[in-house]
Amino acid sequence: MTLNTLTTCQLCPRQCGADRANGQVGFCQAGDGVRLFRWGPHFGEEPPICGETGSGAVFFSRCTMKCIYCQNSPWSWRGGGRDVSVQELSDILRDLAVRRRCANWNLVSPTPYLPYIRAAAAPLIADGIRLPFVWNSSGYERVETLAEYRDLCDIALVDLRYSDEATARTASSAAGYVAAARAAVKHLWETLGPLDSEEPGAATRGVIVRILVLPGHADEAIENLAWLATECSNDVHVSVMSQYAPAFIASDTPPFDRVVTEEEYASVTEAAADFGFDNGWIQGIGSRDASSDLVGENMAPGDGVIA
Ligand code: SF4
Repeated sequence: MTLNTLTTCQLCPRQCGADRANGQVGFCQAGDGVRLFRWGPHFGEEPPICGETGSGAVFFSRCTMKCIYCQNSPWSWRGGGRDVSVQELSDILRDLAVRRRCANWNLVSPTPYLPYIRAAAAPLIADGIRLPFVWNSSGYERVETLAEYRDLCDIALVDLRYSDEATARTASSAAGYVAAARAAVKHLWETLGPLDSEEPGAATRGVIVRILVLPGHADEAIENLAWLATECSNDVHVSVMSQYAPAFIASDTPPFDRVVTEEEYASVTEAAADFGFDNGWIQGIGSRDASSDLVGENMAPGDGVIA
């Protein structure tokens, strides 16, 4: 798909068919062009992603999911940020690589903007400027899109959030999430393979699967770990996360209106050990404050706040 073929957008599993090139928007509300919330060196990702200079994060506005507990709702649901041209995005990627010397280009929820990102990166790559691309995803992806934009995915940082369709619909309005996310993870594992290093900042290729434990739904995290071990491998790097907080409108929707209990979290970490996952990271239950890591608050001062 090129910039000129966004007339029937099929980039994500929703396949809205929106004519974005001519003023229509689909479910994600992304239009004809790129909208960014912020960018800059980011130190809140897993160690092999951050390194000493940080991951070069670019937080795109809008999202293909609508999670009731979203910590990024000011830009994911409400579209905060501003529109940037392909040239401006190219300049941002150049700055992250050349001036900031970041470990990678970390594309956070990039799916609605893939054709523009490719166009922005092309002149840099032609100039010999090329960082590993991190595709930082909810997991709600089409395999066809992942394959078509393989050039924008060296490292997959991908969620497996739900194993029950009903939960995916209730919590994220994401019909078909389970099948889509599992197909995406399997494709990424088969395409990219294991993370090539655990040294800080040294990863250039591979897959990290994030397991965010949700209150009242720890069983789904365990089911996804079982699926991952069986259908992919227990060599996959997993990042088990305790940091769920009832952000945004989750306070109105039990059981999403509370944090995860120690018992719930322990059931998932014990399952990860039982399934033989030796690679990856388990967040401490006391790390709930790390939720800010995912919203960019620990970016380097003065970088890229454009809202
Ligand atoms: S990226 Fe947006 S417009 Fe395109 S199919 Fe998905 S939700 Fe629809």
